[in-house]
Amino acid sequence: MGLETTFGDSILTTKISEVVNWARKYALYPMPFGTACCAIEYMASMASHYDTSRFGAEIVRFSPRQADLLIVAGTVSHKLAPILKTIYDQMLEPKWVIAMGACASSGGFYDNYATVQGIDSIIPVDVYIPGCPPRPEAFIGAVIKIMQKIETESVLRFGEEDNDENAGESDNKA
Ligand code: SF4
Repeated sequence: MGLETTFGDSILTTKISEVVNWARKYALYPMPFGTACCAIEYMASMASHYDTSRFGAEIVRFSPRQADLLIVAGTVSHKLAPILKTIYDQMLEPKWVIAMGACASSGGFYDNYATVQGIDSIIPVDVYIPGCPPRPEAFIGAVIKIMQKIETESVLRFGEEDNDENAGESDNKA
């Protein structure tokens, strides 16, 4: 006989990770680090036609201390790399990163001495979005991937997945 039997519909039992992750995944605070054309596509994703607010990720913050989702949209030069690292470090935990487009993911066609060949050489990346530029639908797909990743995270054991059932499920390409 469980608690539900005694208390009827007035009580719900769940896990702390389920509740906290449910709140986290529907209240993402993105911070755009837009350096080139992909940033324009990000703007389109946030506008009314695509309306990322449907996924609870529309409250854009331009302070890293108020954001938990870093969106790197565009080419990152080596001169810019320390600034990106500082912004990432200033964000509070837990935090997630999307590399939007070919340039952020791999340097794109800028295979030269000035361009970082993928931001994952500077900061950890949770989801990569292919394309030059990616469509807004691809960006929304990446947000959904982040939400799925949040669902599996443990609140009590930071940086770990909540249980073994979810291990290996996340495919980090949008
Ligand atoms: S991936 Fe293409 S669209 Fe995006 S910043 Fe690079 S060159 Fe521009």
